Amino acid sequence: MKTFPMFLTMTGRRVVILGGGEQATQKCRLMLKTEAAIEVFAPVLDVELQALADQGRITHRTGSISADALRGAALVFVGTGCPGTDAALHAIATEAGVLVNVVDQPDLCDAITPAIVDRDPVVVAIGTEGTAPVLARQIKTALERMLDPRLGDLAALAGRLRDFAAARLGPRQRRDLWRWVFAGPLRAQHARDGDAPVARAIKDIIRTDEVPAAAPAPVALVGAGPGSSDLITLRGVQRLQEADIIFYDKLVDPGVLELARRDAERVYVGKAPGCHSWPQDKINDVLVAAAKRGQRVVRLKCGDPGVFARGAEEAEALRDAGIAYEIVPGVTAASGAAAAVGGFLTERGKSDTLVLTTGRCADGNGVPDWVTHLTQRSHVAVYMGVAAATQIEACLARAGLLDQVELTAVNNAQRADQKVLRCSARNMVAELAEARIESPAILFLSRKDVTEAPVMLASPQLVALSA
Ligand code: SAH
Repeated sequence: MKTFPMFLTMTGRRVVILGGGEQATQKCRLMLKTEAAIEVFAPVLDVELQALADQGRITHRTGSISADALRGAALVFVGTGCPGTDAALHAIATEAGVLVNVVDQPDLCDAITPAIVDRDPVVVAIGTEGTAPVLARQIKTALERMLDPRLGDLAALAGRLRDFAAARLGPRQRRDLWRWVFAGPLRAQHARDGDAPVARAIKDIIRTDEVPAAAPAPVALVGAGPGSSDLITLRGVQRLQEADIIFYDKLVDPGVLELARRDAERVYVGKAPGCHSWPQDKINDVLVAAAKRGQRVVRLKCGDPGVFARGAEEAEALRDAGIAYEIVPGVTAASGAAAAVGGFLTERGKSDTLVLTTGRCADGNGVPDWVTHLTQRSHVAVYMGVAAATQIEACLARAGLLDQVELTAVNNAQRADQKVLRCSARNMVAELAEARIESPAILFLSRKDVTEAPVMLASPQLVALSA
């Protein structure tokens, strides 16, 4: 970070604005949101500034500007509209040793004004160190939509009732109270009805000492999607932001973990290079233990938690321990892979059956019987199939289908290092090796006689690769 965000105390402090035109007016509007004493130095004032001076909301000063006049100010804004004058005033402000912001000249700024989402006293400041103001505005727009216009009033109300709550409730009850106020139905009621009914409800709870005990949140089995972090659902992001602890797998994109709260505990329960994976029993145990400690738990899995993810075993362990769980679906790898190469998993009039199968089964379960499902109207998506490619090819050979079946393999779908191979099933093992298709990959198998364009011909990228 070249700049560090801080909230400066402004009440009663001097803010000096040098300039009386449009730039100065803009900074003045911003400062009027604060409780600072604003002084504007300019020979003449813009009409808006003049009106503010007439109302006594700012002080208008004329005459020459010296370092002495600026000393002690909390902030000095320079915005005369003339770059030469601005540079000279910047030098004077520097001599006075005050924090200075020169409009539109980041190189001359000690302090940069952020994009602000204002729900006073809740204030969000967004900065990009001048690299991407458009991005800052987009983030601001998203936050403006997310935060109810009355949210600041609710925070202010909580602030007024803090001492009352502190005098009557213990720390844990207070946490439960405020969690309940901000996350529960009271927040929605406040957005609808404003302060009065909500203030009454909070005071009643504090007086009667009956804080609704926070119901333990269900453990969330969350799908992270197949690759890039923007393929997780909004509900998934919400659960990540609420989580105290997150247990995640190998294939979860690091960008997804970035979406969690900074201080949430992150526990890797996947396979480390050269080591064994965590046994499933141990994962089940740590999920149950964390939930019993009262932590909000997210179990984050790549793709969808219901597809080849052993989610059912974890759910059963939670159920047996009397712990509630919820499943937050995700984009499964087959969807991600098809989309990544511009293809469709089903197509009206051509393919009406999609089979999701795996190259690896539980010990003793044999091989899934996908060959019988490989008809002229189906596509078969094989998960964990690269290591089983030899068996898949042999299986197709036994069924006499080697020349009728086309393979589309998508490795690292939806990631920067995505690779795609399209070839005949005959020699697929050799072709996969040659194209260096490794795990994780989805192997789509489709009958050539379904259509000349099995799953994926739509993608120019794929056509180029297979040409
Ligand atoms: N729950 C996951 C599947 C986990 S099993 C889901 O719904 O997608 C692990 C297998 O998923 C991998 O071996 C691979 O076949 C597939 N997979 C996961 N991420 C993938 C990706 N980005 N590209 C291709 N295949 C992927």
